Amino acid sequence: MGALSGVRTAVKIVNPATEEVIAEVEMADAAEVDRAVERAARAFPAWRAIAPGERARLLRRFAQVVEDHAEELARLEITGAGHTVGNARWEAGNVRDVLNFYAGAPERNHGKQIPVPGGVDVTFAEPLGVVGIIVPWNFPMVIMTWGVAPALAAGNTVIVKPAEWTPLTALRLAELALEAGLPEGVLQVVPGEGEVAGARLVEHPDVRKIVFTGSTEVGRLIGAKAAGQVKRVTLELGGKSANIVFADSDLTRAAESAPMAVFDNSGQDCCARSRILVERSVYDDFLARLSQAVREVKVGDPNDPASQMGPLISAEHRERVASFVTQADVYAAGSCPGGPGYWFPPTVLAGSSSESFRRAFTDEIFGPVVSVVPFEDEADAVRIANDTAYGLSGSIWTRDVGRALRVARAVEAGNLSVNSHSSVRYWTPFGGFKQSGLGRELGPDALSAFTETKNVFISTE
Ligand code: NAD
Repeated sequence: MGALSGVRTAVKIVNPATEEVIAEVEMADAAEVDRAVERAARAFPAWRAIAPGERARLLRRFAQVVEDHAEELARLEITGAGHTVGNARWEAGNVRDVLNFYAGAPERNHGKQIPVPGGVDVTFAEPLGVVGIIVPWNFPMVIMTWGVAPALAAGNTVIVKPAEWTPLTALRLAELALEAGLPEGVLQVVPGEGEVAGARLVEHPDVRKIVFTGSTEVGRLIGAKAAGQVKRVTLELGGKSANIVFADSDLTRAAESAPMAVFDNSGQDCCARSRILVERSVYDDFLARLSQAVREVKVGDPNDPASQMGPLISAEHRERVASFVTQADVYAAGSCPGGPGYWFPPTVLAGSSSESFRRAFTDEIFGPVVSVVPFEDEADAVRIANDTAYGLSGSIWTRDVGRALRVARAVEAGNLSVNSHSSVRYWTPFGGFKQSGLGRELGPDALSAFTETKNVFISTE
């Protein structure tokens, strides 16, 4: 990226597992964002004019360079974000795969030929121009890439604003893009504070689209600001997803898989199944099995391949997570290391009617805390699952295929999984209902979020 002149402040990047400062990163001010937008706007005409096959080749080369540096990227995500080594390696692989997947898109970005009287009618999928991508701290490099890859494939130039706590992999990916041969100005990373650099990207009239992933609170703000310019937005926001377990399910699998469906990435996952709804006839049985499974979750040094869960991102976040846990609501808890690091044990809250339990069952905690309640029948399960402002993800456990489909159609969420906990696959569309978001990422149609349809009629008379 270009020189960071005009920089005002620097933030210390802390390893969440050790509390050691591992880097200091300068935060861009609004003027620096303006310069980045200028560079991106200058780079746009040449990038959109590159032949589709050549753009595809450059994206494939970018994927290859990422593959060549996969271990380095994974290590950065371990020290900078506290991800376990298993997760971080998967994430570096996901960045490579998403780039490769959308490298196939420029050569298949077809328009339509529509039969009309008096001539020929064709459509073109035109790139938008400069796209701003604002990224949260929970999955820094993958969430960035879900926007970057299709945006670039469609012929846009991109500016990424990483989260304050986790800019390191984004900065490295921008360097790797240049190494792969992407022209200067096509992909820039501008670390900065949300209310300064992020806000300027949203306000800048030459930024044609904002892809925002983060909290519903900030997403609402960004949507409102963007509306002032009729700026395109994709919003990927919070979640409070339900894991619905029917009595006829494979209870062993349902109980054994439930902990990591919420505690993966220490629960800092928008798709975390943080509400477990269990049919009353198997409620006690399920809770006993779940508690056993939770006690077996291995929380520890992210560099240890056996660790299933690492620390939370910061002391501030740990304090927020802890504020949801009242000892009287705790049914079971796992263990975690003491000493330095922002550790929090996997925690199960169950079946209480207290105000504190209600709050934990309703709000997005974004930590390793799961709340469990019983339900009476299918209709009751759907009612509880939908009784939330969110609608991102969810799971349904049953052996009855008819019921699986009925419940999957009835739950108001964008990404559901039957007898499993899968949410994000780059081949398939991802996004939220209700206040979990607006628009979809990934999947075969992602380019349509980064293009405008242009219709051209050519008279033959
Ligand atoms: P956040 O909303 O605090 O911040 C997200 C990003 O927005 C950061 O880069 C931040 O600097 C920036 N930002 C903050 N204020 C801004 C402003 N006024 N203008 C422009 N940018 C601004 O969220 P977070 O705490 O980093 O991430 C956690 C949240 O993200 C959770 O709610 C989680 O559910 C959500 N999330 C959603 C998805 C999804 O795909 N739906 C994925 C991951 C995380």
